[in-house]
Amino acid sequence: MASIRELHKQLINKERSAVEIAQEALNRIQQLEPKVHSFLHVTQEAALQQARKVDAKIAAGEEIGLLAGIPIGIKDNMCTKGIPTTCASKILENFIPPYESTVTQKLADAGAVMVGKTNLDEFAMGSSCETSAYNVTSNPWDLSRVPGGSSGGSAAAVAAQECTVSLGSDTGGSIRLPASFCGIVGMKPTYGLVSRYGLVAFASSLDQIGPFSRSVEDAAILLGEIAGYDPKDSTSLKVSIPNYTESLKPDFKPRGKIRIGIIKETFGEGLDSQVEQAVTKAVDTLQELGAEIHVISCPRYRYGVPIYYIIAPSEASANLARYDGVKYGYRAEDADNLLSMYTRTRSTGFGAEVKRRIMIGTYALSAGYYDAYYLKAQKVRTLIKEDFEKAFQQVDVLACPTAPMAAFKAGEKTSDPLSMYLSDLMTIPVNLAGLPGISIPCGFNDQGIPIGLQLIGKVLREDQLFQVAYAYEQATEWHLRTPSLIS
Ligand code: GLN
Repeated sequence: MASIRELHKQLINKERSAVEIAQEALNRIQQLEPKVHSFLHVTQEAALQQARKVDAKIAAGEEIGLLAGIPIGIKDNMCTKGIPTTCASKILENFIPPYESTVTQKLADAGAVMVGKTNLDEFAMGSSCETSAYNVTSNPWDLSRVPGGSSGGSAAAVAAQECTVSLGSDTGGSIRLPASFCGIVGMKPTYGLVSRYGLVAFASSLDQIGPFSRSVEDAAILLGEIAGYDPKDSTSLKVSIPNYTESLKPDFKPRGKIRIGIIKETFGEGLDSQVEQAVTKAVDTLQELGAEIHVISCPRYRYGVPIYYIIAPSEASANLARYDGVKYGYRAEDADNLLSMYTRTRSTGFGAEVKRRIMIGTYALSAGYYDAYYLKAQKVRTLIKEDFEKAFQQVDVLACPTAPMAAFKAGEKTSDPLSMYLSDLMTIPVNLAGLPGISIPCGFNDQGIPIGLQLIGKVLREDQLFQVAYAYEQATEWHLRTPSLIS
């Protein structure tokens, strides 16, 4: 499947219609879904209808934007009016939102063609896409492996070319980790850059929506479309959105020196040796392209995971209190009074991982333990932020592996939550500090499984991330490989 710009050219030159492009995506979905299971719902009719609208505009000689007619997948935790939104949970099994999330509204207005809602870990809690109540998504590079999580469906759909681009959400790594596992680009923007209105809340101080794509340019185009102030989200930033595609230059020289800091603490014990090799090589390439490389210390980086698993479950336990069998979706039928209806609905509607988080969060927030856990975690969060601030006095962009390992086998970590949690070691601190981060393909291990490089930027400096990512992408060929599954 072609890039956004190529498809746009085909459309305006009338080489292909939007319906033909949508049909190509739908055919690919039909062919590959039995193997990959990226989608929870395929919205075939709505997709073709939207594509016909784009074709009518073209036929009428109207101008169309870059995203018009582009097939896109949406993670199933973003509300879509009239279309089921399940968060991959049984508790939202029958939930059909009466309203549209800001991001999907913006995409619909831009003429993008949503082909379906993608699978995720239940309520976006997980790193492998295995806690979904409905489906286990497979990694298109090796079907016996996980696509990463929680936005595994959105990442697998793009890697399998079932759509051109997709949206995910990232609370602790859920865009960057699956992007790395599936060999594609995934970006978590600065907290507040993209509206969270209509995104089902997991941990509100961390959640952020962002793009998946097979090229840096496509991610830059998609982010430009969804970013921007939204009065419906109280944490939305009032900032003007630059044209991100203007930062895409093949090297750094014309734009002055760029300083890249390698985070010392992300190397060493626990890091897979092939990941280490690939990332080290990527840093050499960046240096050859003209970047100035520094080694930087973020001493509190490793406290990210333990404090995230206090803060995120605490916020989740409050956010998930609303699912009580009254207002949304599923209700347990066999209760004989209100209290038992609540408890049965919640105990049978939520899966094990979600219940684990609710229990941890409720405990951490309880009167006797609040200071010892939640308050302390918030203090450490501030220290982690300070480490980044210091680092950014010396460099423009930080670099490290996106994950300590490449995609693991399905089932390998499901019975060991702690080892699952450690997959997000490199990504979580970025959410805690509210910074932008991107994962781009930087190699393959000897089993042909992709490896990702993470770049972390200063607040609202997505442009610099795109600049570095693009220069690296243009100097390498990793992004040109496709899984053998695609014929
Ligand atoms: N894997 C992490 C978790 O389970 C992050 C999830 C996310 O970013 N949504 O909480």
